[in-house]
Formats: sequence, structure tokens, C-alpha cells
Amino acid sequence: MAPSLFLSFSVILTWTSWTCATPRQKEKVERSDIFSGDEWDSLYKEAEKLIGTSKTVLNDSIRQELVMEILNDEYGKRSAEPLPLAAKRNGNTAYITWSSSSTILDAMNCKKKFTLWPEHHCEKFKVEETDNGPQVTKAIIRKLATDKLITVKAKVFIACGGPILTPQLLFNSGFVPTKPNRDPRTQIPLEDDEKGIPPPPDTLEHLKLPALVRYMPRLFVVYQLTVC
Ligand SMILES: Cc1cc2nc3c(=O)[nH]c(=O)nc-3n(C[C@H](O)[C@H](O)[C@H](O)COP(=O)(O)OP(=O)(O)OC[C@H]3O[C@@H](n4cnc5c(N)ncnc54)[C@H](O)[C@@H]3O)c2cc1C
Repeated sequence: MAPSLFLSFSVILTWTSWTCATPRQKEKVERSDIFSGDEWDSLYKEAEKLIGTSKTVLNDSIRQELVMEILNDEYGKRSAEPLPLAAKRNGNTAYITWSSSSTILDAMNCKKKFTLWPEHHCEKFKVEETDNGPQVTKAIIRKLATDKLITVKAKVFIACGGPILTPQLLFNSGFVPTKPNRDPRTQIPLEDDEKGIPPPPDTLEHLKLPALVRYMPRLFVVYQLTVC
């Protein structure tokens, strides 16, 4: 499968199979220590409110009851709890609305603050010299419905296209990875690699991003393999 098809398929796959599980990370297990316990608590509370986390959505589910019963029998000392899910029941019906980005944007009531452009693709950033040094000054956007290119100017750009497509966008904007090389057999980055990957000879210093396309998430790799 060609790489581009590969990516689109993987993106669609993410979209259709986000499981809406929103458990908190455990301190000293996987939770980072960039915030204090209180800060994490307050951030989690805010995020859970925005995405609509609930532990009661599947209370009427026979499947959930059965799974909890089996887990409690097996691990009696550590009682099983329902998975916190970003979803809500619609009244008394069995119909469940699963949360997505639109749930958050709706909850934030940010219609006046944002202009959302669906079906627009950011093709590249333009990096130019400014009084403050080299900066991203423009984004080139393609309106997919008409194929027209639009130039957007801003003081600050934030690229949040996910772990695969963000590097793709940066690479297309002229940024290049510089190190390290990968083990040809395992493809694992060679941490002690002194030389690294030589960038094209005329690459400007500010376009070198050593970690570009490194540390690919495990989930994506698994899905890529599945799709293959
Ligand atoms: C199968 C699967 C199941 C998952 N289940 C869970 C779960 O249950 N709970 C959980 O917490 N996490 C889950 N995750 C992880 C979670 O989905 C991601 O961590 C999260 O979506 C990342 O959010 P993001 O905003 O960084 O990127 P994304 O959600 O990937 O959003 C990036 C968006 O940018 C758009 N985009 C990319 N490039 C461009 C461009 N050039 N121009 C315009 N738009 C662009 C993409 O189309 C996409 O809409 C799951 C992931 C997968 C793959």
C-alpha cells in the first residue's frame, strides 16, 4: 500500500475506533511529574468535564455486569470499577452519544473565539526571516472542496495534527530530522549515534529538528502492521 493511502487509512481508523476510554494515569506508574498532584487533579477535573467523562454510561449493560463480576471474583482484593467513558446516555433510551472534539468545542462555547474550517488541509508552513529571527509567518491551506490554496497569516501557529501527520506537515515545510540514525535491522534509533543523519548540505540551522519522526507511538505501529 502506498504511504499516503496508508496514512489516510490509519487516520480513518483512529477516528472510527477511538474507544472513549478516559481513565486517569496513575501516579508513579505512568503519570508524568510535570504537574503536582493537585494540579493534575484540577486539570483532570476540567478535562473530564469538557469531554463528558462518566462511569455510569454502561450501568445497564449485561456485558459490563458480567465482566465486573468475573474480575471481582478473580481479583477480590482490588475491586473492579467501570471504565470512565467519554460518553452520555440520552435520557432513558439505550442510545449513547460518544464524545469527540465537537463535544469539547461545544462545552467550551468557543464559537466566537474560533473559526473552524472543516475539509481544509494545511499543506505547509512558510518560514521567513523576521525582526525576531526566522519564524513561521504563514500557513498554506488547501480548501479540499475547490482545490484552492489560501494563505493564512498569524503571529503564532500551533500544529496539532497528531503524531504522524504533524511531522509530515513539518517535513513538507522544509524541516528535516538530523539524528540519530536507526539500526538497519530493528529500526530503533541509535541513541549513542554521534554522526546522525546528515541533512541536505544547504539546510538552514533553524530547519533542523533532531527528533522529527522519532518516538513513533506504539499504537500507530501496531495499527499500521494490522492494516498491512
Ligand atoms: C484506535 C485508537 C483508539 C484510541 N482510543 C483511545 C481511548 O479510548 N482513550 C484515549 O484517551 N485515547 C485513545 N487513543 C489515543 C487518542 O486518540 C490520541 O491520543 C488523541 O486523539 C490525540 O489527539 P490529537 O489532538 O493530538 O491528535 P488527533 O486526534 O489525531 O487530531 C489531529 C487532527 O489533525 C488533523 N490534521 C492532521 N494533519 C493536518 C493537516 N495538515 N491539515 C489539517 N488538518 C490536519 C487530523 O485529520 C486530525 O483530525 C486512541 C488512539 C487510537 C489510534
